[in-house]
Amino acid sequence: MSAELDELYQSIILDHNRRPRNFRVMDDASAHAEGKNPLCGDQLTIWLKLDGDVISDVSFQGSGCAISKASASLMTAAIKGKSRSEAEAIFTKFHGVVTGAHPEDAASMGSLKALSGVSRFPLRVKCASLAWHAMHAALGQDEGGTAAAAAPVSTE
Ligand code: ZN
Repeated sequence: MSAELDELYQSIILDHNRRPRNFRVMDDASAHAEGKNPLCGDQLTIWLKLDGDVISDVSFQGSGCAISKASASLMTAAIKGKSRSEAEAIFTKFHGVVTGAHPEDAASMGSLKALSGVSRFPLRVKCASLAWHAMHAALGQDEGGTAAAAAPVSTE
């Protein structure tokens, strides 16, 4: 990776960490799930509002390292307005990129590409995937139609 590209990616992560998008509690959510990454101390909650099959709104709150927060912020921007299956497909692709299994997919990921560098740091992969696992859990929770919260997701 070139130094310029590294810098661009850094600035996207810093920007989303400093000014996270969709960073709020959602009172009328259809589903929510908590995620914890004990290894780093990251902790966040994801809220989803579903309008039929479409994720009409998504938000998060929590605390953690810059990677976990930036990834959650980027995740909310990436899946808002998408269908369940589209959101799951983005998650699968993102996971393949950050784990280093499918680095070739990074090119088509827009801003999410900024997190592709974590594949070189196994501990950071958990930080980057935390919000996504929680989103996945929240989606599964709504499917059952229960009002109870999904079981907390842990990266351990
Ligand atoms: Zn972290």
